[in-house]
Amino acid sequence: YAAKRQHQSHALYDPGLEQNRQTQLALLSDLRNAVAENQFVVCYQPKVRMKDGEIDAAEALVRWRHPERGWIPPGDFIPFAEQTGRLRAITQWVIDDVLKRSVEWERDGICIAVSVNVGMSDAEDATFVDFVEDALLRLQVDPSRLCLEITETGGMSRQVELMGNLERLRRLGVRLSIDDFGTGYSSFAYLAQMPVHELKIDRSFVQALDYKFENVSIVRSIIELGHILGLQVVAEGVETESAWQALAVMGCDEAQGYLVAKPMPAEEFARWYLATPMLPYTPPDMSVYDA
Ligand code: C2E
Ligand code: MG
Ligand code: MG
Ligand code: MG
Repeated sequence: YAAKRQHQSHALYDPGLEQNRQTQLALLSDLRNAVAENQFVVCYQPKVRMKDGEIDAAEALVRWRHPERGWIPPGDFIPFAEQTGRLRAITQWVIDDVLKRSVEWERDGICIAVSVNVGMSDAEDATFVDFVEDALLRLQVDPSRLCLEITETGGMSRQVELMGNLERLRRLGVRLSIDDFGTGYSSFAYLAQMPVHELKIDRSFVQALDYKFENVSIVRSIIELGHILGLQVVAEGVETESAWQALAVMGCDEAQGYLVAKPMPAEEFARWYLATPMLPYTPPDMSVYDA
């Protein structure tokens, strides 16, 4: 018992934990200024149509260039921003930046759709839909150029609002995607109800294609389910030729991952895209399934 107590009191005064808490408090106050001080940077990762290798879309992924801490990846501040009610300002900044970039790119012959990740807290709020509608009008962007990716993480709290908002976005002509499908709370019933165009298979399943045979069945089922529901199916985290081959055989529509390219700052993405409008298309190797 004494040992346990000692362990507990030790844990209470763990300098690591205390530092962590202070870091979080400091980050929270820094987050307040980050949007106003233009500290976010959007990187773009291409999405490739598997049947012909055409790059027809990109995903916008935000990074925080912190004045003292340097580059902070989204996983280190997005969930925290959402918990503390600060995600909305970031999401709106990202959408604005992405739409301005789309206008510029269209002029330069880069005609692709761009996906933006939005939090459940954004998607559940009707004033967020108002924002999107205004931004599309203000910046004169064709709504079908914008796709919103929604991840179901903490469980939905306002399902009725969410469905109404997604329906409104869809009527505006914005594309909608379910991100990280197969993780979290997302279920088949939930998927069938959502008025979306696209489903993204979580990268944990895609990466495991190479070393765990049962994942082939899981991925195949997700692709079939998506197609039955009339959705475009995207695989994220495609890192190897063999994963690409397996996905092509299974009829996956789009691939995204380090095999094609890592996320790049906008200027670099534009240069890369103009130099690589198509990927060499390799027909699926059906011999994998013989024997
Ligand atoms: P996500 O939407 O599922 O984005 C895919 C993540 O996988 C990105 O990480 C991307 O860089 C990474 N990735 C892509 N291909 C590969 C690959 O082949 N291998 C591996 N290992 N990773 C790959 P990133 O940029 O760190 O973003 C992490 C998550 O943060 C995103 O996951 C998304 O949920 C969130 N996020 C990013 N930007 C935003 C944003 O602007 N708003 C919101 N609300 N969330 C964002
Ligand atoms: Mg995403
Ligand atoms: Mg994803
Ligand atoms: Mg993911």
